[in-house]
This record gives sequence, C-alpha cells and structure tokens, in this order.
Amino acid sequence: PLALPKPPNAVDVSCHNLVKRFPDGTVALDDVTIECPPGGITVLLGPSGCGKTTLLRCVAGLETQTTGTMSIGGRDVSAVDAGLRGVAMVFQNHALYPDKTAEGNLAFPLRMAGVPKRERARRVAAIAELLQIDGLLKRRPGQLSGGQRQRVGIGRALIREPDVLLMDEPFSSLDAELRVEMRAEFLALQRRLGMTTLYVTHDQAEALSLADRMVVLRAGRIEQATSAEEMFRRPATSFVAGFLGGMNLLAGTLDDGTLRVPGHPHGLRLPALPANGSQNLTLGVRPEDLKPGPGGPDDLSFEITTMLTELLGRERLVHGHLGDRRLKVRVHADVPVGERLTVHAAAADLHLFDHDGARLPG
Ligand code: ATP
Repeated sequence: PLALPKPPNAVDVSCHNLVKRFPDGTVALDDVTIECPPGGITVLLGPSGCGKTTLLRCVAGLETQTTGTMSIGGRDVSAVDAGLRGVAMVFQNHALYPDKTAEGNLAFPLRMAGVPKRERARRVAAIAELLQIDGLLKRRPGQLSGGQRQRVGIGRALIREPDVLLMDEPFSSLDAELRVEMRAEFLALQRRLGMTTLYVTHDQAEALSLADRMVVLRAGRIEQATSAEEMFRRPATSFVAGFLGGMNLLAGTLDDGTLRVPGHPHGLRLPALPANGSQNLTLGVRPEDLKPGPGGPDDLSFEITTMLTELLGRERLVHGHLGDRRLKVRVHADVPVGERLTVHAAAADLHLFDHDGARLPG
C-alpha cells in the first residue's frame, strides 16, 4: 500500500455563460455553460482554435473571463486567484525545470507551499512510486524519455493533491504507441485517485476512450455535451458527426417522407420522417455502417467508384467517388481501385440533419 494521502473528495466544476474576449477583439469563448461531473473525466474536443485551451485556462485562473461565472465544489471561484482554486494543470510540453532533477521538479510545488522537508520527501517518494518513476528521481529532464518526462509532469501536478486536474493535450507530443499506453495508465490512475479532470484533446480516439462526459466546441460555442457513447451514437449536429468518427456526409432531399440522394436511383421511404413538403438535408452514414452489395428494399444503396484503399489492420478503408462526392467505406477484403462497388446501409444506420446541420428527430 502506498503512503499516498487520501484521494481528494471529488468536486464538481461548472461554468456558466462564460465569454472570453481578448483585447484584439477575438471571441475565444462565446457563452459557454458546462457541468463537469465530480470525480469524472470531462473531455473538451474540437478543431484547432475552437477555444479548448482558453476554457481550461479560465478554469485554472490563468485567464480571466470577460463575463460569466465559474464554480468548483459549489464555491464561486470566478474572482479567486489561480493558486487558491485547488486546481493543477498538465501541459503538452510538460514545462519541467530543465536544471532541476525529477525529484526537484516534483518537490518544487511543495517547497513553494512551505511544506517541511521530511513531508516533502515522503510525498515525492509516494508520487514517484505511483507513477513508476522512483528509479529516475536523480535525473534531469534532458536525461528522461518523453513518456518519463510526462510522468514527472503529471506527478508535479498531482503532488499538491488538487481537487481538479486540468490536462491540455498531455500526450500529444508522444509517439502513437506510447500515447495509447500513457492514456491507459492515466485512466487507471484517475480512476484510483478520483480527481475531477478536464482533458483537452483534438484526438477523437483519445476523447472516446477517456470521456465520462464529452464536450465538442466549435468556434467558441458548445456544439454538443453528453456521454461519449451517446455522442457517437446520436451526434446532435452534422459537424459533430463529421468530426467524430469521420461520418460520410451527403447532401440530399426529403420529399414527402422519401429520402433522395444523388447516386441512389429510387429514394428510400422513411416512415418516421415528416411526410409532407420537401426539404434539403444532410445524410450521414459511418464508413463501418456501409456493407457490400445492394441490400434490400429498406436499405439505401450506392454505387461508388473506388479510388484508393487504406489498410487499417484487419480492415481496409476504401475511398470512393459518388458523383462529385467522396464516400468512405470500411471493408474486410481488398477491393481493386477504379472499379464500381455497390454498398448499402440499413435505414437504422442513417443519420439525418436539417439544412442548418441539426439532427432531425426520429
Ligand atoms: P488548439 O487545438 O490549436 O490548441 P484551442 O481550441 O485550444 O486550439 P485556443 O487556444 O483556446 O484554441 O484559442 C481560441 C481562439 O482564441 C483562437 O482563435 C486563438 O487564436 C484565440 N486566442 C488565443 N489566445 C489569444 C490571445 N492571447 N489573444 C488573442 N487571441 C487569442
């Protein structure tokens, strides 16, 4: 058993109507309201520049919001200094002191907080054991691998037992294999210690594997906030659908309950849809939900021209043309390039969005 201090009591983090306008007029956050469940991992996901880091820095107190409020564990921290929020942050570049040993880096926040020497040594030893860096304490950052450095960075954030841990793309500088390993280790650690975590990434596989709650941001606004599973199963907008899992998106029309898309000769009757009038819409279908062959009368089929295939492992991703649109299909067997390929999707696997990108009910 580790001589680690008790896990912190999990707190909730909530932001209400946060707006962040920088002096140059850039609005990085535009009325953001989120609730992060206590003890869970909330993943902030979105394209570059959507405001993820700004949101994290506002929660940390490193940036002051223009308007809006923030609370941690029920306490309004909107105007509380960064050092007094009970929050620690781990950065992508781990920001270790290059001249200090791993031990010195770990002990530094405790020294700043005036923790006595013996207590510091005890906590450094405990955290080093937890992160499996006990053999490396005398090394400087330059003598550590990327993964080891990031462990020290995480250790330095955790050593003050923060209520809230903020992580800004912590593993993005690591190679793919190590990144997957480190995130699994981090997940186990987070589950054990139970600190409320906000985690920024733009890697959707990472987001899906870590998130208790997932928040997709787009241009400073929340596009959708829900569980990872729900977001994948029922993306609320065509933007989320395209971003998460690379859903194929095709323009189509709905005429009196019949869905028509270019390249599909007959149209598909969808009883759950409104049966009057005509509207433009976006049809979404995931590459893995397209199956070879024409399917039955309740399926939507497409004939595509194969353009290129990518080996994914057991499966291949076939990129094809459907008229002037592109369509990706996951298949098991190899498919020759430049051939016609008929694929179909079951009606239940279709996602429909109105012309503003909002998911159609049903
Ligand atoms: P990335 O994934 O590329 O790190 P991000 O989602 O974290 O992006 P932010 O760093 O939060 O995005 O930036 C959000 C927006 O605010 C961007 O348009 C960015 O250019 C802008 N921005 C960030 N910091 C400042 C600043 N100090 N002054 C002006 N604009 C800023």
